[in-house]
Amino acid sequence: MPKIEIDEQRCKGCGLCTIACPKGCIVLSEQINNYGYTPAILGEAKHKCTGCALCAEMCPDLAILVFK
Ligand code: SF4
Ligand code: SF4
Repeated sequence: MPKIEIDEQRCKGCGLCTIACPKGCIVLSEQINNYGYTPAILGEAKHKCTGCALCAEMCPDLAILVFK
């Protein structure tokens, strides 16, 4: 099963990955990180991840790793 890891401290909460994911796996947290941003986290649909890596390709801060 594919797995993604999001570096919440590296994330600036731009939301591009939430738009890029065709399965709706990623949402923005309601918590803030050390830099004052609401980082991307895996949401309730995380089990739908296909490992397509669109989220990682979209992230301008290289905050997402995808493992297949
Ligand atoms: S790898 Fe693909 S399906 Fe999985 S979270 Fe990223 S964009 Fe969504
Ligand atoms: S695209 Fe990257 S920086 Fe933007 S919210 Fe997603 S993980 Fe964070």
